[in-house]
Amino acid sequence: MFGMMQTQGLMISSILTHAARHHGSGEVVSRTHENTTHRYTWCDVEARSRRLVRVMQTLGVGAGDRVGTLAWNGFRHLEVYYAAPGMQAICHTINPRLHPDDIAYIVNHAQDKVLFVDSSFAALITAVAPRIADSVHTVVMLTAPENMAEVTLAPGMTLACYDQLMDAADDDYVWPNFDENTASALCYTSGTTGRPKGVLYSHRSTWLHAYSTALPDVLCIRASSRVLPVVPMFHVNAWGMPYAAALTGAALVLPGRHLDGASMASILNSEGVTFTAGVPTVWLGLLQYLRSSGERLETVQRIMTGGSAAPPLLIEAFRDEYGVAVEHGWGMTELSPVGTYNAPKPAQAGLTKEQAAAHMLKQGRILPGIDMKIVDGDGKALPWDGVAFGDLMVKGPWIASAYYGEEPGSALDQDGWFATGDVATIDADGFMEITDRSKDVIKSGGEWISSITLENIAVSHPDVVEAAVIAATHAKWDERPLLLVVPAPGKTVDPASVLALYAGKVAKWWLPDDVIVVTELPHTATGKLLKTRLRAQYRDHYVTGSKG
Ligand code: ADP
Repeated sequence: MFGMMQTQGLMISSILTHAARHHGSGEVVSRTHENTTHRYTWCDVEARSRRLVRVMQTLGVGAGDRVGTLAWNGFRHLEVYYAAPGMQAICHTINPRLHPDDIAYIVNHAQDKVLFVDSSFAALITAVAPRIADSVHTVVMLTAPENMAEVTLAPGMTLACYDQLMDAADDDYVWPNFDENTASALCYTSGTTGRPKGVLYSHRSTWLHAYSTALPDVLCIRASSRVLPVVPMFHVNAWGMPYAAALTGAALVLPGRHLDGASMASILNSEGVTFTAGVPTVWLGLLQYLRSSGERLETVQRIMTGGSAAPPLLIEAFRDEYGVAVEHGWGMTELSPVGTYNAPKPAQAGLTKEQAAAHMLKQGRILPGIDMKIVDGDGKALPWDGVAFGDLMVKGPWIASAYYGEEPGSALDQDGWFATGDVATIDADGFMEITDRSKDVIKSGGEWISSITLENIAVSHPDVVEAAVIAATHAKWDERPLLLVVPAPGKTVDPASVLALYAGKVAKWWLPDDVIVVTELPHTATGKLLKTRLRAQYRDHYVTGSKG
């Protein structure tokens, strides 16, 4: 017997109409490229998104078409976020930090018809234009006529100005209802190995993800919150905050392209931001700036960090020096992206300071609505004792079932679980801790060593700003950890002083066999350590080097 409740689908447009109707004066603030501040309301976003649908229709965009964006966090980008899915088209966000070859590949793979681009990417568009001309017929620059940047497009492609198109359009569009499983947005993983793969979100998955992430034990976003996603809207939907903010009526503050410590401190304070989210690198930059300038954070209560493991220093420094809680979350493109969040249970109230510090480093509990487990090499579930570590598997309605263009269900095992490629422990309270990417774990004499644990200890050295541990081939043990450290500006690092930090913290056989001091480490387009390159360079260090 079916329940007798109404069954209208979960439309992304209804997140926005809710915001406009019930939080109409709620603010959306953007720092523009011209360094001015643009302010309007959720009511304006809704009306302008309808107007943008009319623009897209005149550009020949229809249901199921992909429209690409190459843009920073700003109000025009937000309008594309809502207009495209609202008319049954698909908002395809592209990471401009990728190599131009990958960008051309992604645009062609997605077959984007129209690209919405920020003026700061004019050179990038000029560079890739000849290679994407078969898919893209119009490039719309997200700016006013007086700020159009010069672009050379390929024959057959047209350049247009966003504000001009918007001025000429009507906003008489009426949001339609359709199947909630309709595709809404497309985002490619950054592809540290192999070609990028597309994850195709739906209206339903986006709604459920927004609901769950807004909960008190997750991002805790409410109408009185002022939310600033530092994480770019071109990287996994800015972790869903453009949707969660509208759903709850929170003010949304969009920082544009300047994400250095000084710019962040300025916008966080001037806009009275209460909650902000981004990767550890951004927070380390902010911390450095605050320490050197003496500025304070006036209104920020909580910072979410994710994307890579949070160094302990980050959590401690913000708490002790600035009274701000740094909270750890984990996710990935395939998870829309948020999967876990570290919010305490009653059991955590009794932890000692040291235990609490270790606990904060965990990536947290699964969001309600999805599930996780860890398995060994044979697929057998491992115990939740905080010690056993294995491959992390996830399942649920905002997790990808296949990559764009591939067979439905092809990314899942026979029981419907998605392998994250991460290796983790889960403790008795259900808190998950990532110990590695499965391809980064160090397999020494048949036992596993966590590179993240070793990196976290290395960066607690006062003169080390960044560390990477990789598996280097070893004649006797198969692989042994090799540590690379970057000294703080103007400092030198004595390897012995770094190795001394491990005493009593990890088993002796976990200790890196060697430490190499380097001036910098390579990163991916999403700011993560590019370990594939480090491995290619240093894999044979113990075989050919003096430490063999
Ligand atoms: P990419 O496109 O770089 O693969 P994602 O942004 O989808 O990017 O990255 C997902 C991966 O990032 C996860 O599988 C995990 O390895 C890593 N990651 C994300 N959050 C955390 C975290 N809080 N701690 C450790 N690793 C994390």
